[in-house]
Amino acid sequence: MALTPLADALNHLLGSVPEPPTEERVPLSSALWRVLASDVVASVAVPPFDNSAMDGYALRAHDVPGTLVISQRIPAGSRAAPLAPGTAARIFTGAPIPEGADTVVMQEDAREQQGTVSVLGCVTRGAHIRRRGADIAHGATILPQGGVLTPQDIGLLASVGHADVSVYNRLRVAVLTTGDELVAPGSQPEPWQIFNSNASQLSAQLVALGCEVVASEVLPDCPTRIGNALERFACVADCIVTCGGVSVGEEDHVKTQIEARGRLKLWKLAIKPGKPLAFGEVQNCPIFGLPGNPVSAWVTFALVVKPWLLRAQGARGLKSAKIVAQAQFEVARPGSRQEYLRVNLQRDSCSISGLSTVKAVPTRDQSSGVLSGVSEADALAVVPLGATVALGDPIEVLPIADLLSPLSVESPDCD
Ligand code: AMP
Ligand code: MG
Repeated sequence: MALTPLADALNHLLGSVPEPPTEERVPLSSALWRVLASDVVASVAVPPFDNSAMDGYALRAHDVPGTLVISQRIPAGSRAAPLAPGTAARIFTGAPIPEGADTVVMQEDAREQQGTVSVLGCVTRGAHIRRRGADIAHGATILPQGGVLTPQDIGLLASVGHADVSVYNRLRVAVLTTGDELVAPGSQPEPWQIFNSNASQLSAQLVALGCEVVASEVLPDCPTRIGNALERFACVADCIVTCGGVSVGEEDHVKTQIEARGRLKLWKLAIKPGKPLAFGEVQNCPIFGLPGNPVSAWVTFALVVKPWLLRAQGARGLKSAKIVAQAQFEVARPGSRQEYLRVNLQRDSCSISGLSTVKAVPTRDQSSGVLSGVSEADALAVVPLGATVALGDPIEVLPIADLLSPLSVESPDCD
């Protein structure tokens, strides 16, 4: 089977994402990173009334310059009486503007003594007043369906009086890690065994995207047990993520079990690391078969599984966070796969122009088994299929914080 370029694989995968899950109403305290199931329309204006942007004096602009009697005091949270003609009101930030006043003079520009306030300079009519609806108009759509809720979005929902919000249900994902050599962290490995790092890593990546990990199992390289687990998981999960056993070795049974019990739709991508990734289904449950090398598992999850999961959770309008950096490495020969190098980003600011360039410096060891390289890295640098790179060339990099975030995807056609 020929290697599929990543962009083609994503087009195929994202084109067949199932309908978003059903929705539920959750309190704002549980809404972080959830996906909005419908547009949110403001049923009130924000601010709800004209109010003062400063501590100072509310007055009529045509009464100054001059000295005015202070006729009332209006702290935030109190009701204002109409402003008597030719007077000023002592006012504080957030307090309602009294009827009749058209301007606030900040206290630094006024002098108060014996119940009067003197304003010496001229004022601009309307100064320091926050108008009703200036932030959000009554009836405006403030957040769109498919948006992933951030802390500031949750603040916005609260600002228009919503105590809860309609979101899509979390996607239920089952994780299956395979390998005779694996033991759980915390146990005592034999000299030929290794700790299972991918199970914990994948669960953490899933949680970061707002998914619910409904099962996580580890199995030896036994075809029957792996196949049975896939069928079992298909009954309880919206999607299965497996790890290991998707290559061509005699002990690689995940891919063959997807073929035996369901359908393999995609196998082998033109990317490095991560070539042997498999995608298929068993009993209509989508399965991502990730390679076992921890870096390959991490990279393929971020580049392939994540955009699919976000879309399947109903997320829309996500943007790529790609930036351009200056390569601090060379790739002399064009490769047959798109390569993702783990790099650190160094910012050099140019004191003359004030501009800064970002340099992409490769981490020490780029092998696909070296997870410490990902842990150390700030970004993945993309070396396109067939490209060479000279020292100092501009190169696209994907910051790791964005690769893990539910707010961005690094793939074409994510809307
Ligand atoms: P595989 O994809 O099964 O051929 O595994 C490739 C490499 O990744 C082997 O060195 C495995 O020991 C290692 N590996 C597979 N699964 C895991 C895992 N869950 N945690 C850590 N390393 C793994
Ligand atoms: Mg294996």
